Amino acid sequence: MTDNFIQLPSIPPAGAAVPAGEPRGCDVVIVGSGPSGYTAAIYTARAGLAPVVVAGEVTAGGALMTTTEVENFPGFPDGVEGADLMEAMRRQAEKFGATVLFEDAVTADLAGPVKVVTTASGTVLHAPAVILGTGSAYRRLGLPEEDRLSGRGVSWCATCDGAFFRNRSVVVVGGGDSAVEEATFLTRFASKVTLVHRRDQLRASLVMANRAAADPKLEFAWNSQVVAIGGQEKVTSVTLADTTTGATRELAVDGVFVAIGHDPRTDLFADQVDLDDDGYVRVAPHGTQTNLPGVFACGDVVDHTYRQAITAAGSGCAAALDAQHYLANRA
Ligand code: NAP
Repeated sequence: MTDNFIQLPSIPPAGAAVPAGEPRGCDVVIVGSGPSGYTAAIYTARAGLAPVVVAGEVTAGGALMTTTEVENFPGFPDGVEGADLMEAMRRQAEKFGATVLFEDAVTADLAGPVKVVTTASGTVLHAPAVILGTGSAYRRLGLPEEDRLSGRGVSWCATCDGAFFRNRSVVVVGGGDSAVEEATFLTRFASKVTLVHRRDQLRASLVMANRAAADPKLEFAWNSQVVAIGGQEKVTSVTLADTTTGATRELAVDGVFVAIGHDPRTDLFADQVDLDDDGYVRVAPHGTQTNLPGVFACGDVVDHTYRQAITAAGSGCAAALDAQHYLANRA
């Protein structure tokens, strides 16, 4: 514990064994364990703040855990498996004294000077500062084959996986800026990219839509919905349904990129922390401070635009420094 620790009477420190339901205290609770959460943990732990990371039960490590090889994270010229990268970040945080709890946060009371976060097993964490790094979830099509073939041709990230589809045929699902951007990016690698959109008009901005329309490697399947993904070990086809007539047709493809939007994960604290119109946590310009003193947010839960592991890690670092500064200057 540091000088900044709020010494609540009868609350043992984070690492101590306490029965479920009994509170334990620490300087910082970090909710989320993607690149932003673990980076915040590395920095706060190294600063002696003994953070507790509520890492999630099945989602610990965040979106990179379901990515295959990460080729664009600086420092890994030969690439790194997403899961290995996250495991390394976790170990680095623990080396400096972070406590990682592999369970979900189920309640958060963030308004007062002492924040209270409760986990699924009943652990009650008290801290003067909380860092929210809960990330965002890619929207899914809701097809049964989507999960089974995830990482075997189904992807939500062209930047991460596009290079694996060199000279292959892929579809991109969606009609917004993300879909157009992913489709345009994929034309660098794929032999053919088909943008499948459920309407006859893109939602994407005009400039991006025009760029896509002028791309000779990009085709459009208008008024079309992917209703099935074919393949046993890997993707081999999609079934498209015409949204106006209901007629179906099969298209042979090697990859399906789903780009139908993201939803920031804010269920835990949406009623307490200010969110913008798209549901992302609102933070101070060029910072990570939310509307609540002592509550900071970082990574994809605040990021409309970049959503890369390295940008999330960078903002996790910023949140840790902001939290440190807050704790040091607290009255
Ligand atoms: P979005 O704008 O919400 O677009 C989602 C697209 O997916 C829409 O075309 C939507 O169809 C379609 N869709 C949604 N659910 C679907 C489903 N179940 N099945 C099939 N299609 C479905 O999301 P986004 O493209 O991720 O963009 C999010 C925000 O980030 C936007 O503000 C965007 O401008 C911004 N962004 C900007 C850039 C950039 O400027 N470089 C890049 C990426 C994102 P409908 O059109 O029919 O609703």
